[in-house]
Amino acid sequence: MDQRADTREVPPRAQSGHDRPFVASPPWPGEAARLVTDHIVGAMLTLEDDIRDLRRLQRRRPTAEGAAIASAVRFLSAHLDWALTERPAAAEVHDRLSANPAAQIHSWHTAAIHFTRRDTGVERYAAPCPRCDLLGLFRADGDDYIECRNVTCGLLLTPAEYAAHTATLAASYAAWPFNGVTRNVIARYMCAR
Ligand SMILES: [Zn+2]
Repeated sequence: MDQRADTREVPPRAQSGHDRPFVASPPWPGEAARLVTDHIVGAMLTLEDDIRDLRRLQRRRPTAEGAAIASAVRFLSAHLDWALTERPAAAEVHDRLSANPAAQIHSWHTAAIHFTRRDTGVERYAAPCPRCDLLGLFRADGDDYIECRNVTCGLLLTPAEYAAHTATLAASYAAWPFNGVTRNVIARYMCAR
């Protein structure tokens, strides 16, 4: 897992206690947009730095944020094929927490879509996530993957992997001591998608 994208410092939260009321910093205007921007830009620059190191290229020069973003977009576009095929992390599993560049880019796109609320065509899936066991599996219109939106999980499944998962679940439910009608209802429900 590539931790460097999340090294942004977060101010400590105020502590509650018996002798003083809980005090928390109020959000400031634009804070939510700034957080998602910091997340995406930080990860882009980290990926650029990593590719520069691996390919023994000149280090990136510090510059203003806008220029750094424009430069990162150009650099990542130019080195995308290499990153997706030759970078060692390209072999990692495709999920939000991995350093697989394809997964990272997908997660930036997803974060932007979620933040701008352009993902109205989201479909929720009935089976629990095979990794975290929460009901967090969604798929947005046009996405190739079904995604767990539990932020500590982030698993991505292909439709075929989801189908195999539901088949396994249905088989395990079928082994439970339900009567035939209940068992069939559960199996149909789990395999409905
Ligand atoms: Zn999950």
